[in-house]
Amino acid sequence: MDHPINPRLRPADALRTPRFSGVRTFMRLPHLESARGVDLAIVGVPFDTGASFRVGARFGPAAIRAASVLLKPYAFEQGVDIFSRRGAADLGDVAVVPGYIEESFGRITEGLSAVLNEGAVPFVLGGDHSILLPELRAVARRHGPVGLLQFDSHTDTWDEFFGQKYNHGTVVRRAIEEELIRPDRSIQVGIRGSLYAPADVDDARALGLDVAPMMDARRLGLPALGRRIRDRLSDGPAFLSFDIDFIDPAYAPGTGTPQVGGPASWEALALLQECSGLRFVACDVVEVIPAYDPSEITALAAAQVVHECLALVAGRAPENNVK
Ligand code: MN
Ligand code: MN
Repeated sequence: MDHPINPRLRPADALRTPRFSGVRTFMRLPHLESARGVDLAIVGVPFDTGASFRVGARFGPAAIRAASVLLKPYAFEQGVDIFSRRGAADLGDVAVVPGYIEESFGRITEGLSAVLNEGAVPFVLGGDHSILLPELRAVARRHGPVGLLQFDSHTDTWDEFFGQKYNHGTVVRRAIEEELIRPDRSIQVGIRGSLYAPADVDDARALGLDVAPMMDARRLGLPALGRRIRDRLSDGPAFLSFDIDFIDPAYAPGTGTPQVGGPASWEALALLQECSGLRFVACDVVEVIPAYDPSEITALAAAQVVHECLALVAGRAPENNVK
C-alpha cells in the first residue's frame, strides 16, 4: 500500500461543512461503486434473515452510517491519522434478498470478493452475524484460511437452529467445517451465560477454538487478554468480527440477543487497541438493531468500533502490509 493517497478518498472536512449535512455515507466518505484505488472499503450488508430472536439488523448499516458522522479522522488512543495513511470510500450496500439466506450469501461473497480483488480491506456493517460465513468464503478465496478474532457474548458454534444449518448462531461451526478459518489461530472473547448446556462452550473448544469467557477478561485484565489475543492470532491474515452484543446491553441495547454482564464501551475499545500490529484483512460489526436503540448509543458504539478497526489496519507499518 505504498502509493500516494488520493486526497479525495477521505471524509468531508467538518471544519468546512457541518457534519449533519450531506448524504449519509460512513464518516461522510466518498461513495464509490468500485474499490479500485481504495485501501479501506466500507460495505453495508443489510441482511437479517439469519436472526433467531429479534430482527431488524437490516437497518444496522444505515444507523451506523448516521452515527458515524460524529467521528473525526484521528484515532487518538492508537495515534493513527487514518486517512493520511490510507484512502477510503463507502461502497454502499450489497443487494441482499430478504428471506433468502443462500441467495443472499452468494451475493455477499461475490460483493466482497470484488472488493478484496482490488486489494482493499473491507469493513462490513451488518446485518446479523450469519453474514460472517459468506464474508469468510470471500476472504478465504483470496487469503486461504484465516485466523478469527471474534468479540461476542455467544460462541455461534451451535449445529443448527429449527433444523436449519444457516443461522447467526451456527456461523462459526460452518466456517470451521468449510475450512475458512484456522481454529488454532482463532479466539472468541466475551462469552457468557446463560447457555443451553455446558456443551455450548465445550463444543467450541473441541472445535479447536480458544474461548475467553467474559470472566476470564475480568480476571486477567485487559493487557493480559490483549497478549493472549495477539499470541493466538500471531502474524498471519486475520478476520476481526465484532458482534455488538459483546458490549454490555447497558451500553449497547440495540441488538438482537442481548446478554447482560459484558464490558463497558471503553473496555471494548481498549481491547481493540490491544490488537495493534495484527494483520486484519477484513473486519465486520454486526447485530445492530436501531429499533431497540432509542438513544442511538449502540449505533454510535458500532461506528466507533469501525473507527478503531480502520486505525488498526491503517496503522500497521507499511513493510508489514500484504495485500
Ligand atoms: Mn452474539
Ligand atoms: Mn454472534
